Amino acid sequence: MILDSFRLDGTVALVTGAGRGLGRGLALALAEAGADIALLDRSGAPEVAEEVTALGRRAMPVACDFLEASPSDLRAVVASVVAELGSLDVLVNNAGIIRRAPALEHSAQDWDDVMRVNLDAVFHLSQAAAAGMAEAGRGSIVNIASMLSYQGGINVPSYTASKHGVMGLTRAFANEWAASGITVNAIAPGYMATDNTAPLRADAERSASILARIPAARWGVPEDLQGAVVLLASRAGAYINGATIPVDGGWLAR
Ligand code: NAP
Repeated sequence: MILDSFRLDGTVALVTGAGRGLGRGLALALAEAGADIALLDRSGAPEVAEEVTALGRRAMPVACDFLEASPSDLRAVVASVVAELGSLDVLVNNAGIIRRAPALEHSAQDWDDVMRVNLDAVFHLSQAAAAGMAEAGRGSIVNIASMLSYQGGINVPSYTASKHGVMGLTRAFANEWAASGITVNAIAPGYMATDNTAPLRADAERSASILARIPAARWGVPEDLQGAVVLLASRAGAYINGATIPVDGGWLAR
């Protein structure tokens, strides 16, 4: 039955940035579809771990700060998930930060921090996860890209560069790993109401101009990404490789 191919029973997913915003919604969607979940953020997302447990799934909190973690620390994160939950079948690279300053004033620190969290961690975690997935002959990696994987944005050059990089890595990994049974894809959310966009929504003029361009006529919410992540994590999406799927209320179509 077609709906059975969306189920994730018996699988293990690692979701980064799982404690709030989009990551929380992605983690809960995967848990509802049947996956056990390792939840990574700087504190291990204890509250979302409780929500996952309440859904009848195993939850493993993973406390890790990408600004501090070395590549070998990130390999150790993947190894610890496999050791505790038995496998790693789905990796959702969602954690991300944004630093707003015009390009002429953008500090080296902001550039480095954004690259470390938004791009370096995606590379190192994916590399570590894909090794085990290739041995198993199956697995899914879902990266969270952005409208700024396609567009330049305003006052966020490091974020734009990192999210273009996420879309590029998604394609590069898919090209190398699809034949091993690993799907690598990205979701590009539109303008979503989370902490990440709080300053935009607080600016009445900016908020109105963004909203005016969204055909769906509303900001997105974390639940809007839940169907896409289950599709890309499941057998239902087995022949989707290297795609970046906009979930944007029509923003890019405008
Ligand atoms: P958010 O509410 O600000 O949450 C960011 C998440 O990333 C948090 O769980 C945070 O953990 C984690 N994180 C931040 N710095 C970290 C670090 N140094 N080490 C480990 N984890 C860290 O953001 P969001 O809106 O849900 O965004 C999630 C993803 O979607 C990001 O990649 C973002 O770029 C992307 N995105 C968002 C939008 C939007 O409109 N909101 C649009 C397109 C793409 P802590 O709680 O520990 O800080």
